[in-house]
Amino acid sequence: KIILSIETSCDETACSIIKNGKEILSNVVVSQIESHKRFGGVVPEVASRHHVETITLVIDQALSEAGMTPRELSAVAVTEGPGLIGALLVGINAAKAFSFAHDLPLIPVHHIAGHIYANQLEEELEFPLVALIVSGGHTELIYMKDHLSFEVIGETRDDAVGEAYDKVARVIGLPYPGGPHVDRLSAEGEDTFAFPRPYLEPGSYDFSFSGLKSAVINTIHNYKQKGQEVKQEDVARSFQESVVDVLTKKTMDAVQQYEVNHLLVAGGVAANRGLRQSFESSCEKKGLKLSIPQLKFCTDNAAMIGAAAYHLYQKEHFASLDLNGRNFIDIESFAY
Ligand code: ATP
Ligand code: MG
Ligand code: FE
Repeated sequence: KIILSIETSCDETACSIIKNGKEILSNVVVSQIESHKRFGGVVPEVASRHHVETITLVIDQALSEAGMTPRELSAVAVTEGPGLIGALLVGINAAKAFSFAHDLPLIPVHHIAGHIYANQLEEELEFPLVALIVSGGHTELIYMKDHLSFEVIGETRDDAVGEAYDKVARVIGLPYPGGPHVDRLSAEGEDTFAFPRPYLEPGSYDFSFSGLKSAVINTIHNYKQKGQEVKQEDVARSFQESVVDVLTKKTMDAVQQYEVNHLLVAGGVAANRGLRQSFESSCEKKGLKLSIPQLKFCTDNAAMIGAAAYHLYQKEHFASLDLNGRNFIDIESFAY
């Protein structure tokens, strides 16, 4: 089965062609970061406009890089949400037009399911499994007993991890998106501040990073007020250590309680070097199978949407041409 997939939920315009949910024939990602940088974050209306300008070029390029014509495709898949509604609609309308013009089934895909299935681009998933999703808008622990079955066992009560990274980066004075910069700086620093580790109530798999974020911001302000120099790399390292400790501890507890065979880490923050190392060593100790996507499949891309779409195709989870973008889709009831 060969699926053309489209992703436009935020600030990358992406199209990929995937065979059997794992073999990448082409993967085109056009990032808009340069346009949003000067605003310190993604401006939704600017994002939509860029998607409109770029989408047909990206689809044509994905076809030509794969050396394919639309006739050879089995279906077209698209992110239906969650995401910026105007941005989603550009991809959805392109996918609808493509589906109608070439008489192909249209597969709506949950963006977070896509992030999880990015792991399938490298390795088969082994069930039951636990997936930790850490991205710009989500922080979730999900239990999967089989394909397309998602049970949320923990989630953030306030900020997403990526969001906390980006805010801390801004206070330190690093450019948007700040996650990768904090990651890089933190490799040069030490955990001198020993910020609190927000574990919440014993047994809870929920997360809360806004208090940690405030602790970092207050620390920097206090130093500034006293006219003292604060070592940015130590702030970055201290913040990152706290985040990594909490994510690792809760995830490893969940793995233990749910007796799973495979742990997946997914989403933009899965690109974080500290987090990758921490999971690699914890899973090695436990003899547990661990998957984390290659860096380019951690952040938004269409290959991951095609990977998830493969299973939706088999389930005949198809949409009609009245498909709409949805900002909130409960992943537990998605594709049920
Ligand atoms: P969502 O998937 O929740 O809708 P999104 O699509 O905007 O959100 P992603 O593209 O999955 O988010 O991830 C982007 C986030 O990942 C940003 O917050 C960015 O700072 C963060 N990020 C990327 N690389 C790293 C890194 N090395 N360390 C920490 N954070 C990182
Ligand atoms: Mg992005
Ligand atoms: Fe994403």
